[in-house]
Amino acid sequence: MEPILSVKDLSVSFNAFAGKVHAVRDVNFDLYKGETLAIVGESGSGKSVTTKAILGILAKNGHIDSGTIMYQGQDMAKYKEADFYKIRGKRISLVFQDPLSALNPIMKIGKQITEALILSKAIEKSKAKARAIELMEAVGIPNAAERYDAYPFQFSGGMRQRIVIAIALASNPEILICDEPTTALDVTIQARILELINDMKRERDLSVIFITHDLGVVANMADRICVMYAGRIVEVGTCEDIFYRPAHPYTWALLSAMPDLHTEETLFAIPGAPPNMLHPPKGDAFAARNKYAMKIDFEKEPPYFKISDTHYAATWLLHPDAPKVEMPDILKHRIARMREEAGYEIG
Ligand code: ADP
Ligand code: MG
Repeated sequence: MEPILSVKDLSVSFNAFAGKVHAVRDVNFDLYKGETLAIVGESGSGKSVTTKAILGILAKNGHIDSGTIMYQGQDMAKYKEADFYKIRGKRISLVFQDPLSALNPIMKIGKQITEALILSKAIEKSKAKARAIELMEAVGIPNAAERYDAYPFQFSGGMRQRIVIAIALASNPEILICDEPTTALDVTIQARILELINDMKRERDLSVIFITHDLGVVANMADRICVMYAGRIVEVGTCEDIFYRPAHPYTWALLSAMPDLHTEETLFAIPGAPPNMLHPPKGDAFAARNKYAMKIDFEKEPPYFKISDTHYAATWLLHPDAPKVEMPDILKHRIARMREEAGYEIG
């Protein structure tokens, strides 16, 4: 199967006062029709920059240094601003963390959806209002027709995020990029928004790129997961590969740092902090925080080692000559428990 979006060797940097920030380094991934691909990593790992590069909305001081972003037979990495008009918010839509900043505070909510419909040319003007109300219903706004004339401040955070999703869907996009869409919401609202994104994806056969710092969030919804660290993808696999057979010590750390579904306890906090991307370290960027690091981890960048057809990880631990190192027992037990209880229903 051909991917609908294919990112190859993408590197993005920023010219900052202190020097060049290497935010995204040789990132590769494919997105397939109808799948949810999650990109997971700590804050600052380059998740948002990756998607901003895809949509051509990098900050002024940022640029794509190398790589290709193939979509519909064209390389979007080479696009000029005008080339994005037919793509952004039309074929590829974006949902951000903060619904307030995505909405116009002084425009009626229904009108904002109607405008998105008209702008995307998805529908005749005369039918736009009725369609907007349908969309409000589809994203779970009760009494949609009555609330067409409400303003954003009259809606709760969760309801606002539903409106942002309705606007994102107005153009009938092929790809929906969700960048921490639930991070600002409380846990129960978060779960409902995730459910909504999942439903919309299924009903509309969307491809979704779902970005989060929280692995637990994607357990129920991702088909595949890219684990990102210091601007690179360090492990990629199906949801089961990542949750049940994680191979990179950073993925082990992320899984261990996940709060327990029942007790809310975390086993552990990842020690140290991510590297300063003004000076990305040589070798495996996680080495300094990795108690299993070997000499080579500080010297040479690990290649991707193939674990299975779906599963790759960039860690020297997978080199045939590396000593046999297994994940910590405490994580082994946690994974065994997750499998048993399916508290995190994987896949
Ligand atoms: P996250 O994974 O949390 O979404 P980002 O993609 O936002 O991380 O950021 C990746 C890195 O790029 C961070 O080190 C961040 O400080 C840096 N960065 C992002 N935008 C800029 C900018 N406009 N100028 C300089 N550095 C930036
Ligand atoms: Mg971000």
